[in-house]
Amino acid sequence: MSQTPLIELRQVTKVYGQGATALAALKGVDLRIEAGDFVAIMGPSGSGKSTAMNMLGCLDTPTQGEYLFQGAHVESLSRDQRARLRRRFLGFVFQGFNLLARTSAQENVELPLLYRGEASKTRHALAAKALASVGLAGWEQHTPAELSGGQQQRVAIARAIVTEPAVLLADEPTGNLDTQRSREIMELLWRLNVDHGITVLMVTHEADMAAYARRIVRFVDGVVAGDTQNPNPAGLHRPDAGVSATSAAPETV
Ligand code: ADP
Repeated sequence: MSQTPLIELRQVTKVYGQGATALAALKGVDLRIEAGDFVAIMGPSGSGKSTAMNMLGCLDTPTQGEYLFQGAHVESLSRDQRARLRRRFLGFVFQGFNLLARTSAQENVELPLLYRGEASKTRHALAAKALASVGLAGWEQHTPAELSGGQQQRVAIARAIVTEPAVLLADEPTGNLDTQRSREIMELLWRLNVDHGITVLMVTHEADMAAYARRIVRFVDGVVAGDTQNPNPAGLHRPDAGVSATSAAPETV
């Protein structure tokens, strides 16, 4: 028997609504995710990807079944306990960046540390370090409107990793970006996985982006219909493969 996986879903179902209007979004999902993995979650619209991500991100609980995080039963935690688990172990990146508009990159990245009660000196130092690690040293005082889409997503990633999460959950992180910016974001996620050991779970519709993952899980109609390893993640083929995330080239606006 192998070690306890980082995450395990056992026969997870999720039913929205009741009676005649009840709709099963997940219909018995089994999934084991080891620490350090990079998983792309794919599948047609309505197949249950977002529902599964909400579950994995401890934002929602199963109707039936079990969710174990480092062996602990998440489905029996209170709302507050789940929130604590999220703050301590999980980072989130969304398609729409979700940055505060009139707030500098630095302050956006400091927010999770503020919620955690860190002193301003610590917040400042950790946020500056996180921004540098996504290639945005020198851009700390810029607001989102002064940054390109790719740069905004980098700020969002810095905000997600500033608390040093074990898992980064990314919901279509390149959905609003052009091909070049998308690749830069994927290389950044790939480096965070390889260099920092962060487990990455990412929903994507694009095969080119899923190609960066080590594993591709396909949802169809509320169940896992495919689960394949990717022996050659795309990041490995980059000329600068293996260099530190801190050396990610800053992009132009
Ligand atoms: P995907 O992310 O793959 O597009 P979702 O997980 O969003 O799929 O949705 C799976 C199914 O569950 C869909 O039929 C969707 O309409 C339904 N669904 C999702 N969220 C809700 C909700 N809050 N209330 C009712 N039905 C929902």
